[in-house]
Amino acid sequence: MRPYGWRRALLAGMAALLTANSDAPPVDYAAERAAIGRYQDADQRLQNVGWQLARGNIAFCPRVIPAIGLQLQDMASYGAPAIARVALGLTGDFAVQTAARGSPAAQSGAFTRNREIIGLAGFDPNQWPAGEKMDWQRLVWAHDHVDAMLAEHAGIAVTFADGEEARLTPVEVCATRFELMGAGGKAVADGNRVVIGIDFPAFAYPEEDVFAALVAHELAHNFLEHDAWLDRNGRSRRHVRRTEREADRLIPWLLANAGYDPQAGVTFMTRWGSRHDAGWLMLRNHDGWDERAEFIAAELPQIADLMAREGRADWRARFRREIDPAKGLAAGPRE
Ligand SMILES: [Zn+2]
Repeated sequence: MRPYGWRRALLAGMAALLTANSDAPPVDYAAERAAIGRYQDADQRLQNVGWQLARGNIAFCPRVIPAIGLQLQDMASYGAPAIARVALGLTGDFAVQTAARGSPAAQSGAFTRNREIIGLAGFDPNQWPAGEKMDWQRLVWAHDHVDAMLAEHAGIAVTFADGEEARLTPVEVCATRFELMGAGGKAVADGNRVVIGIDFPAFAYPEEDVFAALVAHELAHNFLEHDAWLDRNGRSRRHVRRTEREADRLIPWLLANAGYDPQAGVTFMTRWGSRHDAGWLMLRNHDGWDERAEFIAAELPQIADLMAREGRADWRARFRREIDPAKGLAAGPRE
């Protein structure tokens, strides 16, 4: 396991909005609610795009899980849970954060933003212990619990605080969680998650497919299992550069399978790279942005040909690797 310092950064961002101080002027709950709303808008965009990419590539990604596209929020994860509760009009701590567009949660119509939740397959997550503030662990448990119920029971019943219940049947998606960091402009893929800071410039891009190119780059790291490969083989500059190049080149394949314009990968790299090249990881680990855009563009004819002939871009079979994915794996049978 690697340390999750970014989780603290995520919560510190919200904590700055929600400080409880007896000497401070009265809390402006409308402003707090608006601030949370802007964070939720960005999260909704990330979840919509993440869902579409993770759903569109199920035929090729290394691990597929049943999912409903529901993301929760836990007041305990805020810097001042009591203020957040009042701002959102909640009695308890758990509520809907987002339902990804097109997901079973969204299609049910029941999972409106900030709707309070008191039951996940019979368990009330509010009953689980939580720290006083900035406790992110309980929210991870809740999502783990939902995933486990979906895997074991092929469905889940969610109970709302108003007494209504929604029963959802999952669909398959590629196994990655998408998380918005409340502060900072970094983008990270750790094998299981794609984490993007709210200040990443692509959040301001109006075209969804250009924003999706950023998410696709990070998702490509997980699909190609780069984090584990680098753990096994070392994070030399050469190794990092090769994995980055693979992630760039896979962008248009992932976009095409998800129904986005694969050309948006080139647009993204050109727009972002020409302004922010030095900000994304360390420059020395990457090719220059113009070379990166060219590498992405070089994939487009093959993708167009595959889409025309097969209706999908089978990157598991056709994508040219720049690393040996099996390198560093034990040769013999493993226990
Ligand atoms: Zn990368």
